[in-house]
Amino acid sequence: KKPQISLERLNYELCQAASVNEQMQKMVESFQLSENDRTARELLVQLLQEVFTEFLPDCQIVPFGSSVNTFGVQSCDLDLILDLEHTKAFQARGKKFEQTEENQSEDTRSEDSILSDVDLATATPAEILELVAAILRKCVPGVHKVQSLSTARLPLVKFNYRELNLEGDITINNRLAVRNTRFLQLCSGLDCRVRPLVYTVRFWAKQKQLAGNPFGGGPLLNNYALTLMVIFYLQNVNPPVLPSVEQLRNMACEEEQCVIDGWDCTFPSQPFTVPPSKNTDDLCTLLFGFFTFYSKFDFPGSVVSLREGRTLPITDFLSRDEEMPDTPQGSEPKQRNTAHPRLGPVNILDPFELHHNVAGNLSERTHRNLHRECCQAEKYCRSLQYRNKSSKGKSWGLVRLFTPRVEGCPRSQDGKEKSLEISIPFRASILPESLRRELGSAGDTFRVLWFSKLCTAVGAVFKDILKCTPPEEPTISQAQTKTGEDEEVNNNESVKQVITHPGVKRPLPAEESPSSSSSPQGKRQRLDPSAEHPEKACWSWAQRHQVWAGRRKVRRDLLKKSDEASKPEGGCSSIESRVTQCIIEKEVDPKDLLEFRVDAVVVGGGESTKAVLKFTPNNDLQGHFQDFFHFLESFLPKMVETLLANVITD
Ligand code: ATP
Ligand code: MG
Repeated sequence: KKPQISLERLNYELCQAASVNEQMQKMVESFQLSENDRTARELLVQLLQEVFTEFLPDCQIVPFGSSVNTFGVQSCDLDLILDLEHTKAFQARGKKFEQTEENQSEDTRSEDSILSDVDLATATPAEILELVAAILRKCVPGVHKVQSLSTARLPLVKFNYRELNLEGDITINNRLAVRNTRFLQLCSGLDCRVRPLVYTVRFWAKQKQLAGNPFGGGPLLNNYALTLMVIFYLQNVNPPVLPSVEQLRNMACEEEQCVIDGWDCTFPSQPFTVPPSKNTDDLCTLLFGFFTFYSKFDFPGSVVSLREGRTLPITDFLSRDEEMPDTPQGSEPKQRNTAHPRLGPVNILDPFELHHNVAGNLSERTHRNLHRECCQAEKYCRSLQYRNKSSKGKSWGLVRLFTPRVEGCPRSQDGKEKSLEISIPFRASILPESLRRELGSAGDTFRVLWFSKLCTAVGAVFKDILKCTPPEEPTISQAQTKTGEDEEVNNNESVKQVITHPGVKRPLPAEESPSSSSSPQGKRQRLDPSAEHPEKACWSWAQRHQVWAGRRKVRRDLLKKSDEASKPEGGCSSIESRVTQCIIEKEVDPKDLLEFRVDAVVVGGGESTKAVLKFTPNNDLQGHFQDFFHFLESFLPKMVETLLANVITD
């Protein structure tokens, strides 16, 4: 398998190109599936076909999505449907024969046959998917991590194929997706500018954290929606590069008529039957045009209709919900379809399933980000740095357009990074009366002591309660089993000394300390306040789970179960760490969600002493940092206060 190109290498190669047009062609060359990739995928499909045919005679495994739609990249997943229509017919025939007791079919009567256990005509999708999962687990060599997601919008089974390090999805009878894949293939074949544009826009959107396939759906655009955005724009340039879906339907011949689930999916099967575009714009101009088009686009007020090749006002759209799906001549009359698409800040109608908004998952924030990034890209495309190759070897063209966006560090008006900060004020009330008197006049010593304890508590919140791990450590349990001292041990000694300040009644033994400094992984990544820098500290953490999502409900359930009196958020550290554990256990497939850095300083003096914690995302490809930070804003100060009170009064 060809390794995916690094960003560094890509930038280098793009800078070498002579023009933006050439750069966009290079995007296709760098990312497209190689001949080998395609063959390997085809072989896997054949293998699956053979195994599944053993158990489900006459079934068909059909690839769709980016492996075959001409927009695939080397790491893209393998989307498959299992078509059981013929198997159903086969089973029905077998039953009929059995009833008449003649000509009994070996396959259906065998006790080993899966078909003797399940009636495909009445089985639920979940039941069939369980069967698919069982076949994958037990009978396909090299397949692992099989997981059935029967509650998804389109129920599916996920799996991983070890040899190719490939992720695969199997859905059942998802014929609309196979057809919309054919449509993307057709668009790609209609004009040679479509592929470079789609690859470029997909990469740009990924760099700007607008698109991706985050675990669990997420509020980002998916690649299908993005591709439809490019096609829609190409329908709307002057003169158009691509015809509307309606126009394509009218160019199709009778044999090409196709209706799926009541939706008209008719279009020509071959690109050469469609007249070529009169538009002669080059790629560089079209890309600029794409950003101009969408930077001015009124997303919330319009519905994008590729079918008609134009936008429809949202109000107009709402009054059309009683309309029937298009019905080609001669086909059966269809039932009225009164389903609404899920309208949101961005509305892109599927070209065939007309009540489906392919961007219905987008949040208001993603919409704002999309708008902002389009405006910035449009502005950049107006500059000479976009069009002209730098003679001084500086980055130019697509390279600058692809500068990754760091989520969570919005820029203020003057262009400087706005930091995300949480302040935790000193509260004298948490100290016992005797200690307050003792420390009252101690000045600096007191600030340093308090800050050191605060850092211990902050470390404990991230490590013990929110189960963060050091960046690039594989799992919590693996990280915990690692031992080995390193150079920061001495640093920790100095922390211990600060913690065991004589003012505190009982020294805090290292193993009882809730601080990350007492654990091996804490040592590696935490820089505690030291004797040299007693007023500063910093940590780097990785968070692999969405521990902020749904906490309230999990906490409520836990409290109900344990029959404890209801406690406010942050009120009890052991409950909070159990809440996190429950959330983690429910997440079956943790990904490296985000990595961030926390810099802490103590400022002010006396009663106005406070600690300021600055949060910076190091890696936030899926755009979770902002949500995590908002959660921490209220959670962290409460938890720290609870822990501090325990440590200090102990
Ligand atoms: P990639 O896998 O590289 O992200 P893809 O095009 O394969 O790109 P998937 O999310 O894997 O995208 O989806 C596979 C296919 O399923 C798409 O190509 C499309 O045919 C169909 N599909 C995906 N999302 C939608 C959607 N929101 N509405 C309708 N069809 C969709
Ligand atoms: Mg895919």
